[in-house]
Amino acid sequence: MKKIIFATKNKGKVREVEDILKELHVKIISLADINESIDIEETGSTFEENAKIKAKQVYDKFKIPTIADDSGLVVEQLNGAPGIYSARYAGEDGNDAANNKKLLKELEKFPEPHLAKFVCAAVYYEGKEFHTATGEMKGRIIHEERGTNGFGYDPLFIPEGYDVTSAELPPEVKNSISHRHKAFVKLKEMIE
Ligand code: IMP
Repeated sequence: MKKIIFATKNKGKVREVEDILKELHVKIISLADINESIDIEETGSTFEENAKIKAKQVYDKFKIPTIADDSGLVVEQLNGAPGIYSARYAGEDGNDAANNKKLLKELEKFPEPHLAKFVCAAVYYEGKEFHTATGEMKGRIIHEERGTNGFGYDPLFIPEGYDVTSAELPPEVKNSISHRHKAFVKLKEMIE
């Protein structure tokens, strides 16, 4: 069976993407499955650039076809922030509570609705050209956290067409409408 490395340590992402790519009959190995550590610096200025950087660094090290993604929240009234800095918006990488607090503080001076979208860029690389696909989930930010599913900004984000946050939606529903789902479905068609 063909092997593909997914350049992430996030087990939730791995499960989600394994499910989307299952018809390809490939074995997906994540960086969490590999014992060697690799420090990837996200130095790009777009989601796509960052996803390409991750894919290339991992491919160059292991010489195995690689998929990578980069994602984040884009808020209209904040001119696209937190954007590529979504994971470290409040300073420390991956501190969801601090990031959500900062987002609400920044939005205090703006009227509702706070239109926003999640964006994901997904990349497949096997040493030659990059195959890239993007996906978006549109919605709006509310002023209080609701729900305990999901991660990141989910408790503050109401997807378009719903009246609950993406942290209140059952995971399988959120995963079926998510930016990541849309990007990887398109990427799957390219890998096929
Ligand atoms: P990365 O793609 O792993 O670099 O994630 C970037 C950051 O964007 C995460 O740490 C979250 O803060 C945010 N993010 C990306 N996708 C989602 C999502 O589906 N829900 C909530 N937050 C997300």
